[in-house]
Amino acid sequence: MNVDLVVAGAGFFGLTVAERCAAGLGLRVLVLDRRDHIGGNAYSEAEPETGIEVHRYGAHLFHTSNERVWEYANRFTAFTGYRHRVYSTYKGRVYSMPINLGTICEYFGRVFTPDEARALIAEQAAEIRRPANLEEQAISLIGRPLYEAFIRGYTAKQWRTDPRDLPAEIITRLPVRYTFDNRYFDDTREGLPVDGYTAWLERMADHPGIEVRLNTDFFDLRDDLVGNVPVVYTGPLDRYFDYAEGDLGWRTLDFETEVVPTGDFQGTPVMNYADEDVPYTRIHEFRHFHPERAGYPSDRTVIMREYSRAAARGDEPYYPVNTAADRARLLAYRELARREDGVLFGGRLGTYKYLDMHMAIASALTMVDNRLRPHFGEGSRLTSGGMDE
Ligand code: FAD
Ligand code: UDP
Repeated sequence: MNVDLVVAGAGFFGLTVAERCAAGLGLRVLVLDRRDHIGGNAYSEAEPETGIEVHRYGAHLFHTSNERVWEYANRFTAFTGYRHRVYSTYKGRVYSMPINLGTICEYFGRVFTPDEARALIAEQAAEIRRPANLEEQAISLIGRPLYEAFIRGYTAKQWRTDPRDLPAEIITRLPVRYTFDNRYFDDTREGLPVDGYTAWLERMADHPGIEVRLNTDFFDLRDDLVGNVPVVYTGPLDRYFDYAEGDLGWRTLDFETEVVPTGDFQGTPVMNYADEDVPYTRIHEFRHFHPERAGYPSDRTVIMREYSRAAARGDEPYYPVNTAADRARLLAYRELARREDGVLFGGRLGTYKYLDMHMAIASALTMVDNRLRPHFGEGSRLTSGGMDE
């Protein structure tokens, strides 16, 4: 095979590696993806009836405080001034999320100064001394009333498990802001790609040194590749080793997309539903991610309801569940990965880590600096030893 490097997976991780190796190191890179499009889970496309950009695998908001990642991303796309804000519906009323002074004033029905709100939450949180599960951890951070309203039902729907049976670590830091600042992210940089995610991802892949082959499963070519050409693998870690150490647990999402005959369904991009008897966790309305786009129709809009459940093999793996058993299996898989000469494991699926887009890009840039550049420059051995611990 006439290439220097094979990358399995055309998501943000794989494309960052491919782009840097082709444009930065002058290598010939073959990128494989089993899907019929590039971009991995960040892929977006125009909904055919309305032209509204829809994120097929769930809404993707770009945010980072990493200047290197921001500068790198800006080589391929400009960003809009979008700032993410989320609201939550509970018992027929609407509150702003994450919990902030506005939420506290609305929920308790009176004006609180920041100090008064702090004192109230401290008093309510004091009932838990040593949190032993997610419910107790959350109460120790925000008090029982806000926990029961905004966290209990939502979390139970998301994890399909009683929060008393979930580990405390899932919610180690629930942000409560004692100001009226209701921005969702704290990062210094935020925005959405001006002409969409797919245009951004296509520009990353658009280099004479990069060949992308879609509808191609790495495992169909594996025997010809591994051992003959360096490989960066960004698919599921357990699948690579034929599940030898057992399946790593994932949560998947089911999306129900609908074109509705109104110019504005909910007046905001994302509405969470905190009540346990509402079966979905949230509704996205995609037009609101791009208020600057003039061409969207005024009489129709696209909404997407999101439902959460445990993933079986064959489902799209979206969120690592990360139970104690998963972590033990992960250590065993890392040991196997370390012994796999000539193959590096990266990305969300390849490392079993919930990476945001900016983290996937940052981690790919580091892999190029620390592993691939030394390998192609000085011939150093290519293994994943020392990574990801
Ligand atoms: P992926 O995007 O998953 O790409 C992996 C690719 O590998 C896929 O295209 C897959 O088809 C391919 N592949 C797998 N197995 C094989 C094989 N055997 N052969 C060939 N190809 C294979 N991040 C944010 O920053 N902000 C957000 O708001 C945000 N929201 C998200 C919402 C959801 C529902 C999900 C699931 C993720 C969200 N993310 C968000 C995270 C973001 O999607 C990831 O950071 C990013 O996709 C990671 O890129 P990746 O390349 O590691 O993985
Ligand atoms: N969460 C919650 N209520 C909300 C939003 C979030 O209880 O209205 C909890 C929930 O346990 C969830 C976690 O906070 O798993 C992280 O939520 P976020 O929306 O930030 O993550 P995402 O699902 O988008 O990755």
